[in-house]
Amino acid sequence: MIDRRQFLKLAASLSAAFGVANLPEPVAAALKKIDPASVPKLVYLQGLSCTGCSVSLLQAKSPSAATMITDYSQLAFHADLSAISGKKALDLIKKFLSGEAGPYFFAVEGAVPATMPEACVIGDHPFSWYLDQAGASAAGVVTVGTCASHGGIPAAEGNPTGAISARDYYTHKGFAKPLIAIPGCPPHPDWVWQTVVHLVKIGLPELVDGAPKLFFGRKIHDGCPRYHDFQQEIFAKKLGDPGCLFKLGCLGPDTAADCPSRWWNGGQTWCIDTNAPCIGCASPIFARKKNFPFYRLTEHQKVRG
Ligand code: SF4
Repeated sequence: MIDRRQFLKLAASLSAAFGVANLPEPVAAALKKIDPASVPKLVYLQGLSCTGCSVSLLQAKSPSAATMITDYSQLAFHADLSAISGKKALDLIKKFLSGEAGPYFFAVEGAVPATMPEACVIGDHPFSWYLDQAGASAAGVVTVGTCASHGGIPAAEGNPTGAISARDYYTHKGFAKPLIAIPGCPPHPDWVWQTVVHLVKIGLPELVDGAPKLFFGRKIHDGCPRYHDFQQEIFAKKLGDPGCLFKLGCLGPDTAADCPSRWWNGGQTWCIDTNAPCIGCASPIFARKKNFPFYRLTEHQKVRG
């Protein structure tokens, strides 16, 4: 006899093993029909970021990151993944940003140092220069991760760079092209790759609060296997206890993401499955307040700011 939590874990593992890790039907259909030569390319730049989003992208399991990069999308440049560097890399980036290299989507990881441009420079220009150029020439912009989508850690209270999200940067400039947020610290690789495939093969996915509804249409709380504990007021009193983690500061009620059904690490686990409260890494409030710790050891530690 297995309980619901064990059943979900088993189902997620089997899905990953058989290569059907929660692919939404439109994306699965697009994958079959893809002709890489006919799709817009992807140029991926990083601003104020820790590169964790890019590391996460490489953890894609089904399809693998290599397949997504080479067969199902056309990654023209990524600072960590591309073989070229230095002047050749800068020339390639500028060729795309000038519009000479054909249609492309622009992916941004990281925040923008709005009041201290010198805090993030690529080659001979501040990061914001590249955002401006891409804003004029790209078919659309995907903000990868919470720093690019909501500000995240670089925009935390007291930061000296005046960091803002790339999304806010474009919004303040009246950007009128598709602007798609994929929050998460880091984002799940499926969220990013499947959005890219949807974008280049089908078009703009349905958005809710700027993010694809496919992945961010529901609060974690609503799909959480501990929701019945929440309803019955069975709360964990300290880390490691069974029960709903709300009194340890779980931000599942405030965070929209499909973690409870998608799971992480190739379908092996996810935060709440390992007894860790959701820290709201995909929510706009993530890491913004100094007095808002990611984890609380007991229910008596201050929970909400
Ligand atoms: Fe909601 Fe978090 Fe409790 Fe799950 S553990 S029911 S997400 S408060």
